[in-house]
Amino acid sequence: MDKLLGSCLCGTVSFEIANGFEHFQLCHCRQCQKTTGSAHASNLFTDPSHISWLSGQGAIVRFNLPGRRISNAFCSKYGSRVPFLSLSGEILAVPAGSLDGTPSIAPQGNIFWSERADWYDQAAGTPRYDAFIE
Ligand SMILES: [Zn+2]
Repeated sequence: MDKLLGSCLCGTVSFEIANGFEHFQLCHCRQCQKTTGSAHASNLFTDPSHISWLSGQGAIVRFNLPGRRISNAFCSKYGSRVPFLSLSGEILAVPAGSLDGTPSIAPQGNIFWSERADWYDQAAGTPRYDAFIE
């Protein structure tokens, strides 16, 4: 199995991970909208043994939403989401944007679709640009 590198925006947190993911889901739930500040989370799931932390593990802050099985982990310096263990400790969730390469599987589905942002359907049909709109 080949490996991928991953990191946060500022580079404090970095890791290497086996490129053999089990699931890839785009989650549109309200909590993931809050967590990401965007329309959806793009999460890969894999076995916890697949990751090797290279730097910055001590800079990671974790938040567990009280009463729910929802967590977030991020670099405490500038806030990028980074991989984290499920509360059970059995699954590693990996934000796809933290990877510096192409994961082994493509997205398999949009979950919690009924909670998607009101503007999401319009966004999908808008023109595409390769830079800021002038
Ligand atoms: Zn979600």
